[in-house]
Amino acid sequence: MYQVPRGTQDILPGEQFYWRYIEQRAALLCQLYGYERIDTPTFEETQLFSRSVGEATDIVAKEMYTFKDKGGNELTLKPEGTAPVCRAYIEHGLHNRPQPVKLYYLATTFRYERPQAGRYRQHHQFGYEAIGDDDPALDGEVIDLAWQFLKSCGLSKLKLELNSIGCRKCRPGYMASLKEYYSGYASTLCPDCKIRLERNPLRLLDCKNPLCQKLEASAPRSIDFLCPECADHFRQLGRYLELLGLTFSENHRLVRGLDYYTRTVFEIQPEADGAQSTLGGGGRYDDLIEELGGRPTPALGFAAGLERIILNLKKERAPVPALPKPPVFIAHIGKAAKDEAVKLAAGLRRGGIGVTGALGSRSLKAQLRQANSLDARYTIIIGDEEVKSGRVILRDMTTSEQKTVSPGELEGLLRQLASKTSPQS
Ligand code: AMP
Repeated sequence: MYQVPRGTQDILPGEQFYWRYIEQRAALLCQLYGYERIDTPTFEETQLFSRSVGEATDIVAKEMYTFKDKGGNELTLKPEGTAPVCRAYIEHGLHNRPQPVKLYYLATTFRYERPQAGRYRQHHQFGYEAIGDDDPALDGEVIDLAWQFLKSCGLSKLKLELNSIGCRKCRPGYMASLKEYYSGYASTLCPDCKIRLERNPLRLLDCKNPLCQKLEASAPRSIDFLCPECADHFRQLGRYLELLGLTFSENHRLVRGLDYYTRTVFEIQPEADGAQSTLGGGGRYDDLIEELGGRPTPALGFAAGLERIILNLKKERAPVPALPKPPVFIAHIGKAAKDEAVKLAAGLRRGGIGVTGALGSRSLKAQLRQANSLDARYTIIIGDEEVKSGRVILRDMTTSEQKTVSPGELEGLLRQLASKTSPQS
């Protein structure tokens, strides 16, 4: 028996309503904030990720699905969505459009991680980027969109954590201080952190090893090293968040797992859980576009995991609307009635009314049972009598009331129904 590959899952019809709902909320909220959709390929040149996300990050060092195609090109399945959007921004000259350019995506993302609850090797992200402006009011807007999106999905138990990790100018001072602090504990660090200490001390702060995590409590804080411009940016952002009515806590250990971040970093987590259950996170990456070959362009963005959102919707027992099903079931008795049923089903569907029906020759009782299990609102019953009279029996499946109706009456009734239950786009 074949099974799904470890760390992946099938999304069966019974779960699809969560996915469609979240995607709709994402599209709606993006429209409200002026973001347009972008889709980038599922794989990119490996270098795009190794150069932007950073060689010393877990993502690049351990988690990428990298392969050589038959032409010998080094490719990687997308482990995150920001670098591809920035590549597209540069490649298509989007700096010529009014700035900031605001783009969102829904993408499948691949990371070779140890699977556990809410952690998969193939997961799905909703993310967005605002490219071309360094105003802290834009940081406020980006965070506000993230918060409002998760709220509008139906999550209520959320917390917002915020930090600033400085810029090219002030980060080196902070890195040196981190390096000095952790050097004092070099012998107790996990093997990965010994390498991080040499290659990128900032990464020490997102080690998942409990012994290394203990050292975080007394580690130097990035906000104590910010240059006056970064400190002012952070102060102003705090003011904008207040204006927007968003409550946040400063988390001095928050650095995020990707190297491209500068200044603002933030995460939204379930109230009762820690960083392992983060719903989404983001921040500024003011140097990334330039590092990828574009002109200097400040930018920031956010991404949330759809699997994590669904996990928390279930935990919070948040109401999520079901997907619409065909409201009408057509049952038939006899061969002549079956032809009528086939014609009627086609006519109703062409008129925009959802119909299912039993195509075999089962008993009426069995067909009604099927109509019930499909949650049909009405069942139309056609037998020999109805074929002769041209009328049909309409059964209300909630009340079990039945009446005989003419084609004209049927159409009127069902049209009313269709206007109430038109399929979601
Ligand atoms: P990141 O790019 O690491 O900031 O991830 C953004 C969001 O994607 C996280 O906050 C999670 O909600 C989600 N996410 C990241 N990695 C995984 C994974 N392996 N499985 C499921 N969701 C993930």
